[in-house]
Amino acid sequence: MVKKICLIYTGGTVGMVKSERGYVPDHERFREELAAIPDLHAADAPDYDVVVFKPLLDSSDIAVHEWNKMGRTIAERYDDYDGFVVLHGTDTMAYSASALSFMLEGLNKPVIFTGSQIPLYEMRSDGRDNIVTAMMIAAEGRVREVGLYFGGKLLRGCRATKSSSDALEAFESPNAPPLAEAGIRIRYLQDPEGAVPKGQFRCQELSDIPIGVIKVFPGIQFEVFEQVMTDKLKGVVLETFGTGNVPSSQEALLHIIAKAHKSGSVIVARSQCAQGQVLLGTYAASRALVDIGAAAGGDMTTEAALTKLYYLFSKGLSAAEVKRQIEMNLRGELSE
Ligand code: ASP
Repeated sequence: MVKKICLIYTGGTVGMVKSERGYVPDHERFREELAAIPDLHAADAPDYDVVVFKPLLDSSDIAVHEWNKMGRTIAERYDDYDGFVVLHGTDTMAYSASALSFMLEGLNKPVIFTGSQIPLYEMRSDGRDNIVTAMMIAAEGRVREVGLYFGGKLLRGCRATKSSSDALEAFESPNAPPLAEAGIRIRYLQDPEGAVPKGQFRCQELSDIPIGVIKVFPGIQFEVFEQVMTDKLKGVVLETFGTGNVPSSQEALLHIIAKAHKSGSVIVARSQCAQGQVLLGTYAASRALVDIGAAAGGDMTTEAALTKLYYLFSKGLSAAEVKRQIEMNLRGELSE
């Protein structure tokens, strides 16, 4: 039977044209260019319907509201399609893929994010292969989770990060192998069954919870961030050095973390290194973080840690439960 895919265009370079103010999305041009891709009319190509978001956005403008719109678009059509392809700007694609990985609970169909570095209407566009291969992956249905296909690799959505603003292989998943590689054939590298979650499918929409990312740097004056970290933000992803270290002379930080902990905020320690994981307590410089209640972000990307905080707080969980689940592997975002 011919498979049916829902292709959702949210914006991004893939369907952009040049304007006086730089590249902007153009829905008519996008539809024309999409219809002109010969592979999508091949005998063994899946059938597809297109949903075009209004307004189309540069992905720098995508956040909670649009993640909910994506989640709803998929949930409302879940039973009508074999899989979904989400076309998205590359800049924040890894954030959206991470957010949807958490939001789509019990997902048992492929949801594949892709886009391009060069618009479809320009020469050498990488959009054609990215769209066609993402559609094939969605139609094959072996990966039943949120994935991100780009430049020949299918990555787990909640493990991906944009690593190049220039290369056509623009994404990596530094702490997890790809789910598949597309050469002459699409080669699946992981046991797809392993990632199939149990339970009923539903979309958990997110709330606009105040969450932040703070990067530790030599000479950081933590006291400047006190009010932000304790009163203003519910969750903070703290990008630490190496395996979770912070300057140990920083009494201010310890006081801030203890205060944040008391007031129901969750601080997640993540490493600034793309590869490897946070192991709090390995050095004295990180011991204090554990002692006063910071959560260990393991080897999660910042994108995953941030969107996981949105997700867990949106479920109405207590700070203690959010902290507990931050350290648990929910969607393959974390190595156990
Ligand atoms: N600024 C664009 C966006 O993220 C970049 C891209 O799509 O490659 O929407």
